[in-house]
Amino acid sequence: MARTLGIPVLTYHAMNIGGNDYSSNDHVALATDLRSIRKLGKDVIPLSHVVDWHEGKRPDEEVLDAVAISIDDGSWFDYYDLDHPTCGRQRSMFNIARDHQNRDRERRPVHLTSFVIASPEARSSLDRSCMIGKGWWSDQWWKEAADSGIMEIASHSWDHVHPQLEVVAQRDQIKGDFSKVDCVDDAERQIAQAGEYIARVLDGRKPDLFAYPWGAASDYVVTEYLPKFLERHGLRAAFNIEPRPVTRSDNAWLLPRFVCGRDWKSQQGLQDILAAI
Ligand SMILES: [Zn+2]
Repeated sequence: MARTLGIPVLTYHAMNIGGNDYSSNDHVALATDLRSIRKLGKDVIPLSHVVDWHEGKRPDEEVLDAVAISIDDGSWFDYYDLDHPTCGRQRSMFNIARDHQNRDRERRPVHLTSFVIASPEARSSLDRSCMIGKGWWSDQWWKEAADSGIMEIASHSWDHVHPQLEVVAQRDQIKGDFSKVDCVDDAERQIAQAGEYIARVLDGRKPDLFAYPWGAASDYVVTEYLPKFLERHGLRAAFNIEPRPVTRSDNAWLLPRFVCGRDWKSQQGLQDILAAI
């Protein structure tokens, strides 16, 4: 029997910088993994192409031997090279992808999708509580990134129901668990409002992909809000962090992704994932 075609979606966190080796730094991991992916003869295609294929709008041939890459949380480390306070100069995820592409123009261009936290107040507060308060979580780079052809800006909710925030868009103030977003008012604030804000920054381009903060979603969001309020949120797919490749039979509101540092921790670890698909 033919094996079901599956496309791996790999997820990184640009703020994961605890050192300068593979296991402590997602920038080092991404640069290494792009080389491994190429060595294995695979291309990095836009995540939107995976969703097109899932919807039956792209043929299998366009996604065969391909992976897609997403980055979560959307800080300046996605786009700008920055001096980390203890680990030194860091090449941005965007520039790592561009460097890689410039070295090998034979293959299809590398593409990244950045899932950003929409709320400017939440980002500004998290910049002070989770980073070093240098303003490295603003959205001034989104438009330039989205215009580059290398990086798409997509939605990672309004405020990530982040535990470091004083107030979150969840009616009981339950933080750290997006599956507690389970009524229309909270879904509107976390999903529709996030899309509207991002669209304003992108001159009207509304994101159509969503990644659940912390990976989980409520049944209400998956079976009611996302499928039935399409004209409100404008999305066509949502991603969790179940570690397996996307197949055509998956629910569009529960598309899986692998996470660097959790599902693989080394160059070999990623090669093992890709070899098993
Ligand atoms: Zn996140």
